[in-house]
Amino acid sequence: MSSPSGDARHLPAQRGGVWEVVIGMEVHVQPRTRSKMFCGCAIGELGDAPNTHVCEVCLGLPGVLPVPNKAAVEACLKTALALGCEIPRHTKFDRKNYMYPDLPKGYQISQYDLPMSINGHLDVGGRKVRIRRVHLEEDTGKLIHAGDKLHKAWESYVDLNRAGVPLMEIVSEPDLRSADEARDYAIELRTLLRTIGASEAEMEKGQMRAEPNISIRREGSSELGVKTELKNINSFRALHRAILFEVERQKQLLEAGDTVVQETRGWSEAEQRTFSQRSKEFAEDYRYFPEPDIPPLELDRAWIEDLRRGLPELPAVRRARLVADHSLPHRDVAVIGADRELADLFDGAVAAGAPAKQVANWIVAEVAPSGKLPSAQNLAELVKLVSDGSITRDQAREVLVESVETGRTPAEIAAEHGHKQVSDESELRVLAEAVIDANPKAAADFRGGKKQAMQALMADLRKRAPQANPKVANELLLKLLG
Ligand SMILES: [Zn+2]
Repeated sequence: MSSPSGDARHLPAQRGGVWEVVIGMEVHVQPRTRSKMFCGCAIGELGDAPNTHVCEVCLGLPGVLPVPNKAAVEACLKTALALGCEIPRHTKFDRKNYMYPDLPKGYQISQYDLPMSINGHLDVGGRKVRIRRVHLEEDTGKLIHAGDKLHKAWESYVDLNRAGVPLMEIVSEPDLRSADEARDYAIELRTLLRTIGASEAEMEKGQMRAEPNISIRREGSSELGVKTELKNINSFRALHRAILFEVERQKQLLEAGDTVVQETRGWSEAEQRTFSQRSKEFAEDYRYFPEPDIPPLELDRAWIEDLRRGLPELPAVRRARLVADHSLPHRDVAVIGADRELADLFDGAVAAGAPAKQVANWIVAEVAPSGKLPSAQNLAELVKLVSDGSITRDQAREVLVESVETGRTPAEIAAEHGHKQVSDESELRVLAEAVIDANPKAAADFRGGKKQAMQALMADLRKRAPQANPKVANELLLKLLG
């Protein structure tokens, strides 16, 4: 998955050798649940009217009791299992105390020393990235600042629809070595989460946010440099750019004899740079203590094993199978293996008897870019119609669009449109002769050695007879011109 473009792994240093980049990632993911983490409020949609999904519990009113959401716990455990984590027998929730207007309780319920899972890994482009922990917590509300520059009147509002929405926090060890690897890690994680159904993980909807911590050190050194943490990055592109910028910033500081300050930084999309937000807090700043209103959970082993058995084929295994069983090229495997729906479509169409390579071609070239999926049966039928010469590829493209829209079978649609492919030489010879007569310049150019003139002739031929078998027609033109 990794590409060398923009890779900041090796930075030439003016003196003292080469810099090595060290990145760890914290990723916050919203598990797929209907309700919030500790109350029955609906998750709602982006753009819902402010403060319409709130209750006594998520508003932090006195005298209420939070109750953990089983679906969120299940999504977290499935994620942990898919990442090969150990699931301890006991886990508990803790209060992380801090004051901020978007946090009505004055603390966030999170997990501190007994997280839901520890010690997993995710393999990305041949590198094994260790996962330190996957735990559960709750999201905060959102501040909306509205202002009137003219009258110098500024007001801030708070929307608590997101307060109490479940979040999984997936923390890696500092095992990533470049911006490319960090981006590929986040993409692979999203594929995994979607495959197991733990989250939709749509970054543009705030369902997945990445927070890389970044430091650099001289290659060969085993000590870690001072790191900065970038907050709330919400696209793969921003993640990549922000890391490249931050690495360059740290390099310039250190080479000028300055020091890197441990701090939290934001990413400005408009200015394409990182900026200081606040000095880094440490765990002791939060006064963590066990959440007194939620007893520690004892995780039933039989339940864990049920969840483990229920996991679907994981993306890495699936990709290996696509290569081993069908010898698909890596480019196709990267597209098909990145999306469970595409991968299921591929398997389904092949199971329905269509040749694997052609199915992969159609998925990569037509289905994936359109984002609209036909049924596996219909795709298989379409591929067979093309490969047995019944219809042309151009006709098949139209048939595919119509089949996706209506759900009707490609054979029906092709018959209705009178689509067929004409391969009969005597029929096509008349057509080829007409094309040569109608395009004397292109014909002369071709005879004179300009091979690309054939394109114009073929284009005219396809216009006159879309049903012509292009291979036979091309051979006839060559024969007549040659
Ligand atoms: Zn609520």
